[in-house]
Amino acid sequence: MKIEIRKVAVIGTGTLGTQIAIHSSFHGYEVSAYDPDVKAFQKVLEMIRVRVANSNREPTLSLEEIQNQARKIRWGKSLEEAVRGADLVIEAIPEDLALKQMIFKQMEKYSPEKAILATNSSSIPVSRIENATKRPEKCLNLHFYSLDLGRNIVDVMGGTKTTPEIIEAGKEWVRSIGCIPLSVNKELLGFCFNRVWRAVKRETLHMWAGGYVDFRDIDRGWMVWTGMSQGPFGVMDAVGLDVVYGIEMVYYDESKDPKDYPPEPLKAMVDRNELGVKTGQGFYTYPNPEYRKPEFLKA
Ligand code: NAD
Repeated sequence: MKIEIRKVAVIGTGTLGTQIAIHSSFHGYEVSAYDPDVKAFQKVLEMIRVRVANSNREPTLSLEEIQNQARKIRWGKSLEEAVRGADLVIEAIPEDLALKQMIFKQMEKYSPEKAILATNSSSIPVSRIENATKRPEKCLNLHFYSLDLGRNIVDVMGGTKTTPEIIEAGKEWVRSIGCIPLSVNKELLGFCFNRVWRAVKRETLHMWAGGYVDFRDIDRGWMVWTGMSQGPFGVMDAVGLDVVYGIEMVYYDESKDPKDYPPEPLKAMVDRNELGVKTGQGFYTYPNPEYRKPEFLKA
């Protein structure tokens, strides 16, 4: 029997959760959301404004449309309220395994038995979270990218017991909100495209932190070579350096390879709250980063 998804609940409406909620609503789903930080949505809206201004990509939705959709979303006062009646619950809370396990436990407790439970984690396979629930067969990874800038790809990966029907329902939902599912057929840390991006991050962070190369030159090379409006450091600023650091730690914890350990200067930036676009300071200063100035790519 085909699994129908009509109601979607998003837990954690920071950078990614907000975009998932808005796009689901835009594509006709009934959406509810919960975040303990009541200002989360407004903060993300401001960030999207800056990101769109600093990219040569067409924004997927205008800020007006985002606000229109936000008015349709049922913003729950608790997780319990938000997941009531949901067919799909997706969490986009911080990248912390224990926290995600705790939230999955609550997602399972308060959502209908039939609900699919998904994580937007950038690095944690759902196999490490599924046991927090009594329905591992309905758990999966749905890893989104920056929807606001038209990066409409989603890595899709199951856990140890996820049924093919749940994977298919997840992919179908992904397509229905205008995104392309990238299937991971065998568990792989980092999923599909995200693992490619991770290799770029690891290499460039160590080149910069070791003092070999100025991060601006890496970005210049990347921008000229790929035609993108940002280089890896500009993109990391947009993602959030705390998020980048957390992801690198997951890879290190997995391999224990010193080459995977995130460089100390990155940690120092996180400790100074230089988190990128969201705090106004990262590798670049926002809202008008150096890489947007014409002289940045001048011969
Ligand atoms: P973020 O810090 O912008 O947002 C996280 C949100 O979760 C915050 O608004 C916070 O208030 C909320 N939160 C914290 N504890 C909570 C709880 N107990 N219940 C509900 N909400 C809670 O983080 P983000 O960048 O959106 O990342 C969220 C997840 O998405 C992470 O797992 C990350 O790896 C993944 N992700 C991020 C990106 C990116 O570009 N930033 C891309 C893909 C995936």
